[in-house]
Amino acid sequence: MAIKPYHYEPATDFSIPANRKAMEVALQQVKDQMGLSYPLVIGAERIDTEKKIVSVNPSHPQQVVGSVSKSEASHIDRALQEGWKAFDTWKKVPGVDRARYLYKAAAIMRRKKLWLSAIEVYEAGKTWAEAEGDVTEAVDFMEYYGRQMERLSGPVALTPLADEDDRAFYMPLGVGAIIPPWNFPLAILTGMTSSAIVAGNCVILKPASTTPVIAAQFVDIMHEAGLPDGVLNFVPGDGGTIGDYIVTHPLTRFISFTGSREVGLRINQLAAQVAPGQKWIKRVTVEMGGKDAILVDETADLDVAAQDIVTSAFGFQGQKCSACSRAIIVDEVYDALLEKIIARTKALTVGAAENVNNQVGPVIDPKAFEKVHSYISWGKEHARLETGGEKLDMEGYFIPPTIFSDVQPGSKLEQEEVFGPVLAVIRARNWQDGLDIANDTEYGLTSSVFSARRERIEQAAQELEVGNLYINRKCTGAIVGSHPFGGFNMSGTDSKTGSPDYLLLFMQMKAVAERF
Ligand code: NAP
Repeated sequence: MAIKPYHYEPATDFSIPANRKAMEVALQQVKDQMGLSYPLVIGAERIDTEKKIVSVNPSHPQQVVGSVSKSEASHIDRALQEGWKAFDTWKKVPGVDRARYLYKAAAIMRRKKLWLSAIEVYEAGKTWAEAEGDVTEAVDFMEYYGRQMERLSGPVALTPLADEDDRAFYMPLGVGAIIPPWNFPLAILTGMTSSAIVAGNCVILKPASTTPVIAAQFVDIMHEAGLPDGVLNFVPGDGGTIGDYIVTHPLTRFISFTGSREVGLRINQLAAQVAPGQKWIKRVTVEMGGKDAILVDETADLDVAAQDIVTSAFGFQGQKCSACSRAIIVDEVYDALLEKIIARTKALTVGAAENVNNQVGPVIDPKAFEKVHSYISWGKEHARLETGGEKLDMEGYFIPPTIFSDVQPGSKLEQEEVFGPVLAVIRARNWQDGLDIANDTEYGLTSSVFSARRERIEQAAQELEVGNLYINRKCTGAIVGSHPFGGFNMSGTDSKTGSPDYLLLFMQMKAVAERF
């Protein structure tokens, strides 16, 4: 069977009764199996530790989704050693063959799609559609990176010299650390891990501590797909405790991180130090936060803009790096658009993620809950609260979609990443003022522009300092292979996941010149 060209995985339509029924069954199945414990995976060993990381449902914090064993420094040592041992053989497996492990894992994941989605509903508090979208994207990453590896397995095009044979090819780096976030607990984790592996590396995977159960499922799927022992080592642990150890370890060849600016910058700094016995410069990829803006001018379709602002701001409770946290609206249409945004926001229902009728679930944990409320308190004193903002008397970590208007450019709420369901609305004098406000941030991840004016769209394409710009559409929902994803400035190293360039971050090119 020939491998077909890549095409992104279609979403499950939950308005179809059969699909709804299937998801209900999956939710029940996952619920029936809650509370299982998952071991560390180091080489061929499965290790149960006494200390565990317990994963709870943010919609019902008393409900334990599962637990995972917790690594200590000695486990990290062993995992890195096992990784290097496996690297000797894994690096010699041809790229086209390594790709097949990803195709197999993608097929397994596709078959388990609703079951994996149901885990995310419980563990991450994602609504059905958001959870299913995350699993779908994970499938996409593996299908896409497999094909990219096939492409990169061929010889590099060179200019031939007359008196010698010149060739060049890509080689993997070695053993690296994969440190993903919780907010796309399967998609980002799968993309970061499978890319490094298909490029010929071995990895130690330290998942986010709030979503380790879905991470353990990924590890099981990769082994079900036949991945040799030691290629993927699973070492959950508290980032604040073992993170530095992993990053500074002399056996760590590269670090692929996605998460907050604070941790990303720390990793970047620590990884630059050379440990005794270390003979390489660590390759560091850090993808970090955003303060993403949607800029609307007076020529825009205000209904479309309002809908897309609400979707971008409150989808997954605003906990996307790409979420719209600033709506910058030119004065001429400010009041009219604000009214439409508020009306649509008030129509959103907040509640437990397993209930398909809820569009806004909980934030991930008590820390996030407190942090978001501290921004809301600040907003109440420094801006105009339009809707939301109250502390809900609910069991889970629920925060109502909250809108502040007349937020001042340069103020805390306009500058800092909140990472929750809070939208700052900012009044711009005109288009150019709006563009200047949008650019006045140290972040540079996503942005949208709503305008009918061609010259403004082209100006934004050139001048808006973001890695991902969308025109007349929402600023979330990047599709693997269609929207290479990654931010400028303090949003990261612009690694562009889901792009033809991404795998190169995990490889080095060797040039061989031979005279006969
Ligand atoms: P985070 O707190 O920085 O955590 C990310 C990962 O780093 C977790 O696995 C965490 O482990 C680990 N970690 C924590 N401290 C560490 C340390 N000192 N050394 C090494 N690793 C450490 O971020 P998050 O709350 O999970 O994710 C939200 C952030 O990610 C937001 O800022 C969001 O914008 C960003 N994000 C960016 C992108 C992008 O593509 N640019 C995509 C998604 C999310 P523990 O869980 O054990 O603490």
